[in-house]
Amino acid sequence: MRLNNIALVAALVFGITSCSEAQQKASKPNPYYTHKGSSKMNLPDSEWKKVLPENTYNILRNKQTEAPGTGQYLHNDAAGTYYCAACGNPLFKSDGKFESGCGWPSFYQPFNDSSIITSVDKSHGMVRTEIMCGRCHGHIGHVFDDGPAPTGQRYCTNGGALHFEGAVKK
Ligand SMILES: [Zn+2]
Repeated sequence: MRLNNIALVAALVFGITSCSEAQQKASKPNPYYTHKGSSKMNLPDSEWKKVLPENTYNILRNKQTEAPGTGQYLHNDAAGTYYCAACGNPLFKSDGKFESGCGWPSFYQPFNDSSIITSVDKSHGMVRTEIMCGRCHGHIGHVFDDGPAPTGQRYCTNGGALHFEGAVKK
C-alpha cells in the first residue's frame, strides 16, 4: 500500500511539474559546497537559487519529487559517498545503499548521526517522515520502516538531491 501511495504522489507531482531533462547550470558557482565543517547553515532560498541547478533547487528547497526511475544514481553501485548536492554534507555511504525496487535511490542507514534530520510530513493526504540534510536542511526524500536488516529503514531519496563521489582506489 505504501509503495502504491508513493507512486501515486510521484505521478501527481510529476503531472504538475515538468521534469528537467538535463542539469541546468546555476547562475554562479556554489561556494557553500564543502566536506569540511559541520556547522548548520541557514541560507535564504534566494541565495540557494543563485548557486543550485534548477532541478536540484526544486528538490532541495521546494521539496519536489523526481519521477520514479528517472533520478541519477538509481542503479549506481560504485563504492563511495553520497553528499548533499547543496552543501556537501555526507549523507550516505555506498555500503548503505540497496536496490529497493521503488524507483528512487534507497539506503538503509545514513552516513552518521548528524547526516539527516527528520520531520513529520502530512502533505498529499499521508503521514510520512521527511528526511532533510542535517546541515542545510534541504529536502532529500522520505524514510519508511520497510527497509532491510539491520536497520529496517528505507531512506528513499531523490537522486537530484545527492552528489556522489567515488572512493579513491588504493
Ligand atoms: Zn545540505
